[in-house]
Amino acid sequence: MPFTRTLAKPTFQMSNEKNSPAPALPSNFLRAIVDHDQAAGTHVRAGMPSVITRFPPEPNGYLHIGHAKSICLNFGLARDYQGRCNLRFDDTNPAKEEQEYVDTIIDSVKWLGFDYDYPSADGGVEHHLHYASDYFDQLYAMAEYLIGKGYAYVDSQSADDMAANRGNFNTPGKNSPFRDRPREESLQIFRDMKAGKYADGEHILRAKISEDAMSSPNMNMRDPAIYRIRHAHHVRTGDAWCIYPMYDYTHPISDALENITHSLCTLEFQDHRPFYDWLLETLAEGGFFTLPLPRQYEFSRLNLTYVVTSKRKLRQLVEDGIVSGWDDPRMPTIVGLRRRGYTPEAIQLFCERIGVTKSDGWIDMSTLEGCLREDLDPKAPRATAVLRPLKLIIDNYPEGQSEECTSPVHPHHPEMGVRTFPITRELWIEEEDFMEVPSKGYFRYAPPIDDKPGSRVRLRHGYVTECTGFDKDENGKVVAVHVNYFPDSKSGTPGSDNYKVKGNIHWVSAATALQAEVRLFDRLFTDAQPDAGGKEFLSLLNPNAKEVVTAYLEPGMSAAQPDQRFQFERHGYFVADRVDSSAGKPVFNRIVTLKDSFVAK
Ligand code: ATP
Ligand code: MG
Repeated sequence: MPFTRTLAKPTFQMSNEKNSPAPALPSNFLRAIVDHDQAAGTHVRAGMPSVITRFPPEPNGYLHIGHAKSICLNFGLARDYQGRCNLRFDDTNPAKEEQEYVDTIIDSVKWLGFDYDYPSADGGVEHHLHYASDYFDQLYAMAEYLIGKGYAYVDSQSADDMAANRGNFNTPGKNSPFRDRPREESLQIFRDMKAGKYADGEHILRAKISEDAMSSPNMNMRDPAIYRIRHAHHVRTGDAWCIYPMYDYTHPISDALENITHSLCTLEFQDHRPFYDWLLETLAEGGFFTLPLPRQYEFSRLNLTYVVTSKRKLRQLVEDGIVSGWDDPRMPTIVGLRRRGYTPEAIQLFCERIGVTKSDGWIDMSTLEGCLREDLDPKAPRATAVLRPLKLIIDNYPEGQSEECTSPVHPHHPEMGVRTFPITRELWIEEEDFMEVPSKGYFRYAPPIDDKPGSRVRLRHGYVTECTGFDKDENGKVVAVHVNYFPDSKSGTPGSDNYKVKGNIHWVSAATALQAEVRLFDRLFTDAQPDAGGKEFLSLLNPNAKEVVTAYLEPGMSAAQPDQRFQFERHGYFVADRVDSSAGKPVFNRIVTLKDSFVAK
């Protein structure tokens, strides 16, 4: 059964200096394995670190929060053990791969705070950005070797026959009629496949692990395909090849060629491990690798509530125009989270906090949001924004007059300075800060009722005011609130605390406010597990995931720079959108509310 958990506060801080050590690490089963290997000297090799990991994305989509877990794990482990982590593109499927994806993946890894450039022994720099396609010659040579040793053969069955003869979980497979074809014949056909003499699908190269492999209980051991014909243009190798190695063949070999020590992958690859080990041991006998061989370890993938992380489904959201692109701030992609205003530190903290285990489970979105608040609270400057404006008129405040009010940029960090903004006769306040008929316990503006005077409210950093009335338009909508102010009540002046009021609200001067577009984002789905158990995820979209309002902000906010984050007091954390903001005209995204206020339907 899947379960949901919300995690406890961490006792450590993350660092976003590139690959710099993180102190006080919590342990997990992978660190225990690495510790054991360190003690036993398992991966000691001259001139090489004893921990070499890799992050191996296929460049066929944008990275998402699940990949961030794998990135933080692989790069984090390398960092913590003074090792190295390679970024390797598993680019063996020419049909689906594009340069755009390569570029965004590199960008996302770096933005998350990691780097694959390491100092070399001679004082220079080693670039550990690799591509499986760089190994195409070696992969091919190894395939010929396997054929020569009787460990691989060319199968010429039709795709349908091959599928039928593979059997299934309950039924053993049947040997292909081509399985015992002479090695020389297989080799000749394989060379002709490479030379372009056959059409896609005419032949395929398969491994032959043992005589009775087709009845192995592990389907992955039933003569897995290792090379197929694909007359397709490859982003990096162009038209040099018309046969391409399969993922299960390429991946272990790439690991071994790069001297990976710990090859970390998600649990679904557990059943692929016997082939991984067999292939590397078999090729090692042929002298293709330096020993010791890499070892594969599996961990559970990240399942995060209220999002989908399947590349296919994310692509559908983009292609169907449900979101504005891969970087839509509602997307769980790294580019989406970035545009939404997430920090790399918050994502690193989240990945550390959820840890790694071997059991599948669900992590609640509130855990990710909690990490974000924790990261932003101490560093985000405060600002005032009125998101749903209602006019407030201070009737006894002289027209044309203006006074400066001041407030700390951050309540706990005086070194961040103060901000100033004017108070004038007409202000903007939030609609919800006035109630014509106040409910019990409501301490903000309410008008005089019978002989009871209107309520008294402090305009934060300004004056205490008393509500005297309100105006409505012809539809009965309240369009202005009238108050009088007490000139001796200004915050920070002697005697101001003689006024004891329970209501305290934020406001901006109507004369100088910055009008700005603010996008109020919420979760993209209303269901915690929108694609679990056969649910149709597109029918579970949250119609309120994006609301655009025209807000009034304190005038200093016109200087907000793209990507700059703020806490809008009483509202939450906001960022100046990195794409749509322009000089003097920021557009804001709500990153997250101050408290967990999401109500699931
Ligand atoms: P595909 O279906 O295209 O293979 P993928 O999500 O597995 O999709 P890859 O590019 O192959 O994408 O993933 C790169 C690495 O990220 C792999 O090692 C994979 O195991 C890991 N990864 C992908 N999704 C998650 C996840 N949700 N949690 C943890 N790791 C993940
Ligand atoms: Mg994959």
